[in-house]
Amino acid sequence: MEQTASPLILVVEDERRIARIIELELMHEGLSVVIATDGQTGERIALERDVDLILLDWMLPGMDGLQVCKSVRKVKNTPIIILTAKDSTGDKVAGLDAGADDYITKPFETEELLARVRAALRKGKSREELRVGDLIVIPEQRRAYRALKPLELTTREFDLLHYLVRHADKVLSRDAILAQVWGYEFDGETNVVDVYIRYLRLKVDEPFSPPLIHTIRGVGYVLRKL
Ligand code: CA
Repeated sequence: MEQTASPLILVVEDERRIARIIELELMHEGLSVVIATDGQTGERIALERDVDLILLDWMLPGMDGLQVCKSVRKVKNTPIIILTAKDSTGDKVAGLDAGADDYITKPFETEELLARVRAALRKGKSREELRVGDLIVIPEQRRAYRALKPLELTTREFDLLHYLVRHADKVLSRDAILAQVWGYEFDGETNVVDVYIRYLRLKVDEPFSPPLIHTIRGVGYVLRKL
């Protein structure tokens, strides 16, 4: 994933004054904010837009925070922080059970809100995953899976796979791979690329089907789902 604009925070809060205060605080931190003042609108924005974090009030007219949380969780793993005026343990547990990542009890200090927002954004970033067919690469965690099975890769194998997946569908020359994965200073033979592609195929392709790593004769390699 390339560098993106500032993270987008969805604030679902029916009390406009509170929504506005939160919006100002978040904007002051350089974050982008969109506000929904009811549950249905919040749900729609959460599902339709590329939101990085949802601050979700619990008590909302119509569809409440819990329902919004459950609905979003069915399809997206966007971090969700529940804002609740309730201080009972039962409600917090219900929120976390519904898939929320965290909760803040109102009234809250600005510093606490911002600290939790930052933590949730970091957590969300670590969930970013690249997918090609049933191959999943999670760069922040340096983990890869095929057909939901973890792949045991060495550091170099992971770097190579990450590079191939980042440029999926694009034919990459041995020189380009060597420069990007081994670095321009590497003065070994370009056939080190072929050797490592062979290692990767043993782990990523051979136990599974169909193969994802393809040789382009005379050029190099491409990772794609045919
Ligand atoms: Ca409310």
